[in-house]
Amino acid sequence: MFPKKGASEEEVLAELEEKTSEDLTFDSGRILGSMCTHPHPFAAEVVRRYIDRNLGDPGLHVGSQRVEREAIAMLSSLLGLEKGYGNIVSGGTEANILAVRAFRNLADVENPELILPRSAHFSFLKASEMLKVRLVWADLREDHSVDVRDVEEKITSNTIGIVGIAGTTGLGVVDDIPALSDLALDYGLPLHVDAAFGGFVIPFAKALGYDIPDFDFRLRGVKSITIDPHKMGMVPIPAGGIIFREKRFLEAISVPAPYLAGGKVWQATITGTRPGAQALAVWAMIKHLGFEGYKEIVRRAMELSRWFAAELKKIPGVYLIREPVLNIVSFGAGNLEEAEEELKKRGWGVSAHRGYIRIVMMPHVRREHLEEFLGDLREIMLG
Ligand code: PLP
Repeated sequence: MFPKKGASEEEVLAELEEKTSEDLTFDSGRILGSMCTHPHPFAAEVVRRYIDRNLGDPGLHVGSQRVEREAIAMLSSLLGLEKGYGNIVSGGTEANILAVRAFRNLADVENPELILPRSAHFSFLKASEMLKVRLVWADLREDHSVDVRDVEEKITSNTIGIVGIAGTTGLGVVDDIPALSDLALDYGLPLHVDAAFGGFVIPFAKALGYDIPDFDFRLRGVKSITIDPHKMGMVPIPAGGIIFREKRFLEAISVPAPYLAGGKVWQATITGTRPGAQALAVWAMIKHLGFEGYKEIVRRAMELSRWFAAELKKIPGVYLIREPVLNIVSFGAGNLEEAEEELKKRGWGVSAHRGYIRIVMMPHVRREHLEEFLGDLREIMLG
């Protein structure tokens, strides 16, 4: 019921504390299966300071809009593009929807189809339903990357674009984006790379010497990339990123917004009023950590995932779904559902789907948390 009279801030906060006491928190180290993390304190401070900025009405917040453009420029350069076009959006879901929307609007096709790997994130289901684009699923190979030959076989005159994934949600697999890029160029189709997770991992992991396929705008067939600062970028939720190679993609999804206090503008995002603070936090984190800072975060995460994968293999009845590519380790077990239930009872934030449990080495996950987890898993398996 809507309260008639207000309560003091202390009373309200006390009630909130009680109500949220059941939540798992990232800094407890118990959340092992999420791609989110406790945001960097500096990014949280930037959000707090600029909480009132609205990028839906950039005529009022001209400075913030400039900062968003600079953030997009820095992300573009990380992804091998001198000048990119895009926005800081609410997350990977919105970014993927915008890419599909741009491809659909630019294609002159009556019954549009999008070819994507079976490993694609469920955000494409939302895009499909909203945009009336039929999804055509391409098979995976044994290593869980998309079968590029199957993608080619599925191209028809209705195809509006192809999706490749750089860091799949379940296993962190990076598709053969160079081959998809060549295919896209051969058929004159745009390729979208969903690097919602991998975008803030792969450039740094490659610089550390990990052998990971190229995935970004250096490949000419790649026309758009999703890259989420609210995952490994350590920016508070909601902060996603969509970047297009050419302005025409952004123009294809822009609508006029005439009734704004700051004057008429064009909006390409799904959200109208949208948080400027998050875009400022993306800018601030990139400036603060720089390439070297993110590289250190990724170094830790990658090393931890290799160590964890090796430890998992020592537990009887537990097997890796595949060797980790990024900082995601997924494993199966004979009695997976029971193991999941028991792990949950013991307070671990993990879940089983598609026959495995996924552990994501986010910045809040430390070795001591994983040691405790391995101890519990060993006990459960020996049962
Ligand atoms: N794409 C990939 C590959 C993802 O892993 C995710 C989320 O896990 C998304 C898109 C959707 O991102 P969000 O939950 O920020 O909308």
